[in-house]
Amino acid sequence: MIVAAGRGERLGLDRPKAFAKLGGRPMLAESLERLDWSDWIESIVVAAPPDWEEPVILLAEELGCSKVVAAVPGGETRAASVRAGLGEVPDDAAVVLVHDGARPLLADDLIERLLTTLTQGWDGVVPGLPIRDTVKRVDGDRITGTVDRDELVIAQTPQAFVWPVLRDAAMGGDDATDCAALVEARGGRVAVVPGDPRLIKITDAADLELVERWLQPTSEAAAQGEEPLG
Ligand code: C5P
Repeated sequence: MIVAAGRGERLGLDRPKAFAKLGGRPMLAESLERLDWSDWIESIVVAAPPDWEEPVILLAEELGCSKVVAAVPGGETRAASVRAGLGEVPDDAAVVLVHDGARPLLADDLIERLLTTLTQGWDGVVPGLPIRDTVKRVDGDRITGTVDRDELVIAQTPQAFVWPVLRDAAMGGDDATDCAALVEARGGRVAVVPGDPRLIKITDAADLELVERWLQPTSEAAAQGEEPLG
């Protein structure tokens, strides 16, 4: 499932973030195509910006994404959009992946990493990146402590879950900013696997430019002096 109902106000566009131009086409095209091409994925549900369900379906048709089974209007919060999308998941599904449409550069090896770990007996699996900076706790402008960064990761998507676990957890937690938080809150066991530094969440115009550069064929990027990400 792709959650793509965010407004994207920080991009300052006249359309929702999912339809911001990336490499000459709507940003959502990237995630849609990559999930559709993946042998790990059977069907795709999109939580669309309200009133943009039809353009989402048309985009999927244009791209030949035959696995898209529904586009539903998202909600006011990410958690509400997740709930709306989950309403379209059939009862007999086994596993659901929830992905932010705002993270275009989804690689198939990450999906494989998530799903092979999930089958080892976890309720959910999340891609995580280590934190390289020092993290401080603050109270207004005063630093009150230093957090041990070895205990922290930055959570990305897609996040994979055993379907009945996510279905039950998704009932609550409107302020949850990811799905793992909903499952953790109910005592679910969630694992972390290495994430992908290029799977950034697009928030502003600089993020769009960066991902656009990463989308270019390697030879073109090399000509522009791009360093491969290690
Ligand atoms: O805004 P945020 O960073 O939480 O967005 C993460 C993802 O959740 C984005 O892909 C965005 O489109 C989606 N979202 C949504 N419905 C909302 C808010 C965000 O589907 N109401």
